[in-house]
Amino acid sequence: MEIPSDFVKKSTWNKVLNYIALSDELPPYLLVDKDVMKEKVDVIGKNIKNSRVFYAVKANPDIEVLRFLNSLGTGFEIASEGELQILASLGVEPDRIITSNPVKTFKFLEYAADYGVNYFAYDSVVEVEKLAKYAPKSNVYVRLSVPNEGSEWPLSKKFGVELDTASELLVYAKEKGLNPVGITFHVGSQCNNVYNWNTAVDKARDLWDSAEQNGIRLKMLNIGGGYPIRYTKNVVDIETIEKKVNKAIYQKFPNDIDIFIEPGRAVVGDAGIFVCTVIGKAVRGDENWLYIDVGVFNGLMESVGGIKYTYIVGSRNEPKTWTISGPSCDSFDVIDKEVELPEPEIGNRILILSSGAYTISYASEFNGFSIPKTILI
Ligand SMILES: *Cc1c(COP(=O)(O)O)cnc(C)c1O
Repeated sequence: MEIPSDFVKKSTWNKVLNYIALSDELPPYLLVDKDVMKEKVDVIGKNIKNSRVFYAVKANPDIEVLRFLNSLGTGFEIASEGELQILASLGVEPDRIITSNPVKTFKFLEYAADYGVNYFAYDSVVEVEKLAKYAPKSNVYVRLSVPNEGSEWPLSKKFGVELDTASELLVYAKEKGLNPVGITFHVGSQCNNVYNWNTAVDKARDLWDSAEQNGIRLKMLNIGGGYPIRYTKNVVDIETIEKKVNKAIYQKFPNDIDIFIEPGRAVVGDAGIFVCTVIGKAVRGDENWLYIDVGVFNGLMESVGGIKYTYIVGSRNEPKTWTISGPSCDSFDVIDKEVELPEPEIGNRILILSSGAYTISYASEFNGFSIPKTILI
């Protein structure tokens, strides 16, 4: 197969073809290119002064992925004891771990505090009380609600509070003996709208002032995740986003501010390629259906929320328009519609690009279809 799309690097493509040719492993599996992850880690944060990067583990918590990222020295953002257990097994130091889930379980809080994690997000009165009890004196940062327009995977409704509440919560944390150090927000995942960060930074500055008026000197701004990747369309590149964000931050904030960044999708998404098999074809009404062995339940859950992937088949037949479906018996298990692809044969490989993030981490064994293995190349 020659290189099929400019959305995959030649070096990645060669590694993928080599792996398929030489390995005994049976598909489906997810190949993850270490060089792509390294490139991403090298670029993220580079254009934001005083920044530290904490990889959002939920995007892909595979132990080999985490081991590799750990070897590159990144920090980690976690939300649960399961995520912390994997990091602990790799010996990740607590000062490289933060937790930005604003509502945490008791068990996780206890474990995290005991492990020595010392950065916790919150956005409610009861969370302050939980933190004061389970992680007394810890560093805490409040989650501000910010616009998510232009993000393909918005997160804004579930978490975050408005300015006045956020300001009160910072004061309350201090009253409870915690150490309010900063502000966080999330512009939404797969965010294509650079202005979201600008609006968010402006809003954070207002909160910063309001905290100062209440005698609280903050020192950290956590700009969350949201950097987009190329699924089927070009997106704004990380460098462009970061230069704009950097400018917005340093026009308004003190020079010695600490910036945290929590990318998930951008670190692992483009590094992953699913290797799947065509297991069925049918014509139903006026639709051509293509059935493959990875679907909504065992890896491609985000397709239901509107993420569209790039598919590659080796066939040189005329392109047709397909409805692509997973292997389970559930009618919810439809990955994509109106996909133009040359007609493959049954048993042919079908590759899915940019599928390293929010795929395996979402997967279940529903209907007995196993979760594809993750293999680093
Ligand atoms: C999921 C999540 C991230 C990562 O978001 P991406 O869009 O994958 O970069 C970062 N921070 C928090 C708090 C999250 O919940």
